[in-house]
Amino acid sequence: MTHATLPEAGTSWPELKDRMVAYASGDVRWREGRTAVYVFNAGPEVEQVQKEAYALFQSENGLGPAAFPSLKRMEEEVVGFGLSLLHAPEGAAGTITSGGTDSITMALKAARDFARKARGLTGPLNIVIPRSAHPAFDKAAALMEIEVRRTPLKDYLADPEAMAAAADDRTVMIVGSAPNFPYGLIDPVAELSKLAEQRDLWLHVDACVGGYLAPFVRMNGADIPPFDFEAPGVRSMSADLHKYGYAAKGASTVFFRSQELKAFMTFDFRDWPGGRMVTPTLAGTRPGGAISAAWAVMNFLGVEGYRARQGRVVAAREAIEAGVKAMGFTVLGRPQLGLIAFSRPDLDILAVWGKLREKGWFTGITTEPKSLHLMLSPVHADVAAAYLEDLAWAVEQSAGATPAEARYS
Ligand SMILES: *Cc1c(COP(=O)(O)O)cnc(C)c1O
Repeated sequence: MTHATLPEAGTSWPELKDRMVAYASGDVRWREGRTAVYVFNAGPEVEQVQKEAYALFQSENGLGPAAFPSLKRMEEEVVGFGLSLLHAPEGAAGTITSGGTDSITMALKAARDFARKARGLTGPLNIVIPRSAHPAFDKAAALMEIEVRRTPLKDYLADPEAMAAAADDRTVMIVGSAPNFPYGLIDPVAELSKLAEQRDLWLHVDACVGGYLAPFVRMNGADIPPFDFEAPGVRSMSADLHKYGYAAKGASTVFFRSQELKAFMTFDFRDWPGGRMVTPTLAGTRPGGAISAAWAVMNFLGVEGYRARQGRVVAAREAIEAGVKAMGFTVLGRPQLGLIAFSRPDLDILAVWGKLREKGWFTGITTEPKSLHLMLSPVHADVAAAYLEDLAWAVEQSAGATPAEARYS
């Protein structure tokens, strides 16, 4: 493939805009509500707030808090919102990062540096994570040459016994998810917390997808088990603003039980001619727009706005859960939030997925066991019935089908 070369002459913005819109003609039409992966759709009002708030600070740089006290203030407020929603104690601290992978990477760096300093560890290190944990842990561990020990699940959840057996005196972090991505289930964080306290292990709770959803679902009356700093063994957490926080993409939060623990994350360097450079996250330059959009959306929604939208997410999940059970599917575990996976061993799941794709549904797949996977947004409350109708059609169409060519992602 020959690569593109930069045009000699520039092109007018209106023409470029038309071309970009044309480029997008093959993209999923997520605003219509038929996409249940990649995009969190809280409706056009929230999208407008995101967009305008982003544009206001799109050239400003979070790398320079002294130059942009506005961004520093917005970041502190957003971090405060997150800490208070997640039962963080007095003295806890956090930072906005570029995404869940960034948050997880920085939490692992902090845990590793803490282990080296506080426990005097040298040589090979490891982390112990359940099989359902996000690959961001493997990526971060690969960067830092840390061994990853993935332990088997029990009823699709982290198994504290298996994790206890896998951990040793070189374990710098154990992980629980709230919820995990493949099944949407909240790991037994209270039990993992006990293990962490007994063995003096660093417990990270990955609430990337649930951190800004679970607190409101609980406020709406669901019996959500302890999953955050309420469990005393939790030392750090990741929670993505750009997922169920409905912020513009490029925004997550990473939190630590104390300022002392957070200090292990910060990179502070001065041995070059450019002067001292202090960066809390993986990034150097940090997009001001990601910070301002998160701040604006959170204040726009408030607790009431989140409760209402997260209530719709749960309503969508409950409607789909009931509908797929009636069609003979088994829902994996007992999901309580916005993710759900369901299987039917007699069906070719990829064929069903492909048929749904024909009807414009772009959704996910879970592989163990092969299942359909949905990550639901408030907008899905309006299309749950249409989904179930098309699913029934897709099941009928693919009964007895040979394995499909359908490819996910
Ligand atoms: C999305 C997600 C991540 C990674 O977040 P990115 O923002 O995509 O980097 C990590 N853990 C869980 C459970 C997630 O759902």
